[in-house]
Amino acid sequence: MSVLTRLLERRRPTVVAAPDAAPFVHVQADGRVDLATVVEAAAVRCALSRLCAYCAQPQGFPLVFVGPVAELDGGRCRRPGMHDACARLAVERYRAAGLLHLPWALQASGSFTVERPQTRGPGEQIRFRPGPLLWTERVP
Ligand SMILES: [Zn+2]
Repeated sequence: MSVLTRLLERRRPTVVAAPDAAPFVHVQADGRVDLATVVEAAAVRCALSRLCAYCAQPQGFPLVFVGPVAELDGGRCRRPGMHDACARLAVERYRAAGLLHLPWALQASGSFTVERPQTRGPGEQIRFRPGPLLWTERVP
């Protein structure tokens, strides 16, 4: 194990959502959960307060972004960053919901920038661009 790996392991947060908890960024204002829809207000709150998109606790290091490969490769992730363990839990939730019909991946970074929509039309939403990548992993 390299020194860097050991440092990263030590910094890995222990926060993880309960397995039956709904991912924060998919809970609608009325309490319904739609895993295919990113709730804009929740995504903005994650961006401003640096919260995990799944458990809504303060983000740790690294931040893991989850989404279709095409979305991640374009640097325009719809979902805010998550704790590593939360991201893996989210993948299982997305799989159970039948959302993984396209290739998906996890991308880890220590930072991100936010891209706000230029207009307020349908499909226009906040996007997250991971900083320099620490690792990328295809969802099997
Ligand atoms: Zn989390």
